[in-house]
Amino acid sequence: MSFERVAIIGLGLLGGSLGLAIRENLTGCTTTGYDADPKTRERAAQLGLVDSVKETASEAVADADLVILCVPVGAMADAARDFAGSLPAGAVVTDVGSSKQSVGEALAAALPDHTIIPAHPVAGTEQSGPDAGFASLFSHRWCILTPQEDAPSDAVAKLTQFWEGLGAKVEIMDAEHHDLVLAVTSHIPHLIAYTIVGTASDLEDVTRGEVIKYSAGGFRDFTRIAASDPVMWRDVFLNNRDAVLEVLGRFNEDLSALQRAIRNGDGEKLHELFSRTRAIRRSIIEEGQDDARPDFGRKDH
Ligand code: NAP
Repeated sequence: MSFERVAIIGLGLLGGSLGLAIRENLTGCTTTGYDADPKTRERAAQLGLVDSVKETASEAVADADLVILCVPVGAMADAARDFAGSLPAGAVVTDVGSSKQSVGEALAAALPDHTIIPAHPVAGTEQSGPDAGFASLFSHRWCILTPQEDAPSDAVAKLTQFWEGLGAKVEIMDAEHHDLVLAVTSHIPHLIAYTIVGTASDLEDVTRGEVIKYSAGGFRDFTRIAASDPVMWRDVFLNNRDAVLEVLGRFNEDLSALQRAIRNGDGEKLHELFSRTRAIRRSIIEEGQDDARPDFGRKDH
């Protein structure tokens, strides 16, 4: 009942990690891979990210029963069109894109005769490229599948089993809800990090040297997020525009309320909010989603 021949399109952090995770966890499953960048293909072959790196996307998918698109969300449609003519009739197509509504629509338009089950493993780092991949990336992380209502249930079950085989926990959700949830938990936090690091570097009366020299824990943690891949994140904001703008509107209101509380000396309001947010952090640690040690368990500080 499991997939046996997996083609991975895009051999960066996500694609490379998938190749390594499949080799480590799914015996009997072979992998082919393709990346648009010849240097990435060469590096992926050196690192052995997949069993066989192909020179074209068509060659990579020719014998596949599962194709996983691991390219930036804005490149999904082009990447799918690239191999559309060579895709075996029974192959299931999925992806790992961080936004789901627009990707689902783009893939359905590019591959109208195939089974498409969009997916998003909520797992990653601020690194990108083939050298960034590692086999345990998906272990104990959630992977959200967003199949259309008429998607074949056996294919959904098979893809669920595939992700569970890589150590992930699977949840099924509709694409619109996924995009709203991820706007809150991932996309807006990245936007805030990009903003605060940008603001600090633009401040005229604080020098760039001072920003780096005196970077306290809070700023440093934002810089980690703000070092994330610019192409990936540009595409996320352009593709999850509605949900991001909706949550951003709400965020702006809450920020104004805090601004008022600070101006009015309303310590009670600040204390009440900061106590609530502390409880959320505790719940994340209790769920095993982060590390309670100081500095998030980082050794190098
Ligand atoms: P990445 O490390 O930059 O890898 C993406 C690779 O896809 C690059 O090598 C890129 O080549 C290649 N590519 C671009 N267009 C292509 C095309 N048309 N055909 C074939 N290859 C193509 O990015 P990533 O972090 O793995 O992200 C991949 C996907 O995973 C994105 O959709 C992202 O939203 C999603 N995701 C990322 C994270 C994360 O934390 N990074 C987490 C969950 C999901 P070029 O460099 O030449 O463009």
